[in-house]
Amino acid sequence: MLDQQKIDTLRQQTVAPQQLFINGEWQAASSGQTMDVISPIDGTVLTTMADAGAEDVDRAVKAAREVFEKGSWSKAAPAERKKVMLKIADLIEANALELAVLGVRDNGTEINMAYRAEPGSAAGTMRFYAESIDKVYGEIAPTSSSVLGMIHREPVGVVGAIVPWNFPLMIAAWKIAPALATGNSVVLKPSETASLSLLRLAEICSEAGLPDGVFNVITGQGAVSGEALGLHNDVDVLVFTGSGFVGRKLLEYSARSNLKRVYLELGGKSPNIVFADTADLAKAAKVSAMGIFRNSGQVCVAGSRLLVQREAHDEFVEHLVAVARQLRIGDPLNLASDIGAVNSAVQLEKDLSFVESAVKEGANLVTGGERILTESGGYYMSPTVFDGVKSTMQLDKEEVFGPILGVVSFDTEEEAVQLANASNYGLASGVWTDNLSRAHRMIRSIQAGVVHVNTYGGPDVTVPLGGVKQSGNGVDKSMHALDKYTNLKTAWIQL
Ligand code: NAD
Repeated sequence: MLDQQKIDTLRQQTVAPQQLFINGEWQAASSGQTMDVISPIDGTVLTTMADAGAEDVDRAVKAAREVFEKGSWSKAAPAERKKVMLKIADLIEANALELAVLGVRDNGTEINMAYRAEPGSAAGTMRFYAESIDKVYGEIAPTSSSVLGMIHREPVGVVGAIVPWNFPLMIAAWKIAPALATGNSVVLKPSETASLSLLRLAEICSEAGLPDGVFNVITGQGAVSGEALGLHNDVDVLVFTGSGFVGRKLLEYSARSNLKRVYLELGGKSPNIVFADTADLAKAAKVSAMGIFRNSGQVCVAGSRLLVQREAHDEFVEHLVAVARQLRIGDPLNLASDIGAVNSAVQLEKDLSFVESAVKEGANLVTGGERILTESGGYYMSPTVFDGVKSTMQLDKEEVFGPILGVVSFDTEEEAVQLANASNYGLASGVWTDNLSRAHRMIRSIQAGVVHVNTYGGPDVTVPLGGVKQSGNGVDKSMHALDKYTNLKTAWIQL
């Protein structure tokens, strides 16, 4: 049970100016440059952080490479690495509220959700990969008896990880944990608007006994330090979560440098499909509303396109709008708030511009569509529902990454599949039906990395998350993620 008093005490704490974490030490950017960290809760400056340049990135990559070559982590027995990673998980848990509050002050996610999704899942992810790593074996190939074909799994070396501002701890852990478990060194570049909890994580890793240089954190502008990391010739693999716009750049960086492998977890425009045979439409509407509005819609898998079968349309939309109107939007550190702040002024502007364009294109604004709580100085937006959305509209095509839902009607199952797949994205989806055969047909037909059935959101670390089409390649989570952080090596021995 979260305690409001403890949260209020933690939110008062001054956040010291933040530096880069390189080779186990706090270091200023070599240019001396810093950036303001603005809290979306009230628009005030929370602290400053180092604004890294190419030289700093180079220092971090060198430290990561050196320790990798030395082998204090990369060649340690899996059981040894496991011990340290379990300790990291314990320390994340021991500092969970502090990490969650710090993260919320930085990025605005409602604390109820942030507490579970950030330290909660980061600790779980560390444990999952820590526990996995002394259970992964090499292979012997089924060759003729005169040879022995052995397949080793080796760490790739230096992993560059670039993560976004939504759920920074959770998403970074999806990358750091399998990378560390398999013996790699990591240079992490968090988002400009969500770095604080990841800098604190670096400290925790050190305290747990991770050797210096194995985990480094570089903060600053994506277009500067992110680019330098992407272009670095001594980074072996780049793992990324963020927008397609930046994902494309990373592929370019790879082509312009050392052809490093690039894994992209990108955006989505996920269809949530409601069939009229769903008995409990009220429950479906409640879950669907949270499937788009939690964290102010800043969730990669958000069900932002609602496809409703025409017979159920009026009843379903009525339930959904009622839920949207009841949601309490406000200070994300107040336990009574259902939904917190939009991450930044820039993101809020972007959300509002989508409202404007949807209205211009003729969609029917049913509820929301406005900036609210302006007097707080923070960035808040009302949950927004547009009905009568057409597949030609910008709102149906582009990812908003805000609390905006577009409703499209359909008549037949075939039409639902056609509408669902008419997107450049293929990250997640939802299907609501009480017909088992239909559920299975839809699972097979929808082009997406995840199909939720009669629920929306929530899968844990045991299952993969990855997109198809322009939602990316490769997966985070599950044992399958280990493939990104390892190379297969064949030993072919004549007997
Ligand atoms: P973004 O692409 O703007 O930024 C992501 C990261 O890239 C940040 O750390 C940023 O500093 C860095 N960056 C920016 N420009 C760069 C450049 N030129 N070179 C290298 N790095 C650069 O994304 P965002 O706004 O932080 O996050 C929102 C996006 O992330 C949405 O599209 C969302 O769908 C996506 N996302 C996807 C998943 C998933 O698992 N598929 C999960 C969460 C978020």
